[in-house]
Amino acid sequence: MKWSLRLGSLLGIPIYMHVTFLLLLAWIGVVHWTQEHSVRAVASGVGFILAIFLCVVLHELGHALTARRFGIKTRDITLLPIGGLARLERMPDEPVQELWVAVAGPAVNVVIAAALAAWLIAAEALEPLGGLGVAVGPFLQRLFVVNVLLVAFNMIPAFPMDGGRVLRAVLAMRLEYTKATHIASSVGQAFALLFGFAGLFVNPILIFIALFVWIGAAQEASMVQMKTALGGIPVGRAMLTEFHTLRPSDTLARAVELTLASSQKDFPVVEEARIVGVLVQGDVVAALSASGSATRVGDVMRRDYQVVDPSEMLETVFERLQQCACRTVPVLRHGQLIGLATMDNIGEFIAIKGALAKTGRSA
Ligand code: ZN
Repeated sequence: MKWSLRLGSLLGIPIYMHVTFLLLLAWIGVVHWTQEHSVRAVASGVGFILAIFLCVVLHELGHALTARRFGIKTRDITLLPIGGLARLERMPDEPVQELWVAVAGPAVNVVIAAALAAWLIAAEALEPLGGLGVAVGPFLQRLFVVNVLLVAFNMIPAFPMDGGRVLRAVLAMRLEYTKATHIASSVGQAFALLFGFAGLFVNPILIFIALFVWIGAAQEASMVQMKTALGGIPVGRAMLTEFHTLRPSDTLARAVELTLASSQKDFPVVEEARIVGVLVQGDVVAALSASGSATRVGDVMRRDYQVVDPSEMLETVFERLQQCACRTVPVLRHGQLIGLATMDNIGEFIAIKGALAKTGRSA
């Protein structure tokens, strides 16, 4: 993210702090100074904010490390005044995995809160529930309250909160992915309205949260509505699963035969159940005129080709297809060829999605 300072890295994940976060610290410092005119008050105010953000970093690490268990890397974690942001390279394609990744963050705060509560109870320092607050009481007790609030806030079932992702993941186990997103973002916006309304009467902070939630839900919804076909949909759901393969020892005559019999233009070349190359139509035509139809596929196929994982997003695969100027990319899961992603195929997927969206149905 622009305007971010690198703080270092934790478990291989770079941690950044957005400059606006420094403004927040400065503001807290100034507020404490004008109120109490003591360096100690400033230090404890700023120290408390830093402690909160340590909890937020641990929360984001919860997401990042769970994602890592599913083989998903995290580009970085950035601290913003409104919270943390872990940028995962992609979202898991399995709803169950998305559920785990989303839940892992708040779970970290549950653990911190439980540990602090245990400590406070052991030290007989915990105030009765009515006396708890973020602004009053000893440091650790306030930190306990903050962690409880972090869990509650993040589990609100609205994007961009973790609760929104949990809701979508649960819905996606039964419904189609775009439909699940649509319902989850509508629920989020209903919550935003509720917050905004409550904010008018209870606490103006709620209006700010409402705005934040509304924008998050709208972003998630527009991703679905506008980029219906591409946004947030893994390749695994739009790949070609019925296709022909060739062996390196096959002749180009066999390739021509298959091309004429089906509509397939490019072929994955497989040897002993492993993909070893891609035979591209343009190369076949050139080779046919140069050396005839008895030429081996293995001599014409491309050995440097791109592959994609079924959980990669259509958007990124579409970009890659454009960049590499190739029409076909093999889809591999754990090294096994399970499908083909082609420009034509993705185009058809978009067209079908668009048509279904107009009639209000889902694929
Ligand atoms: Zn989170």
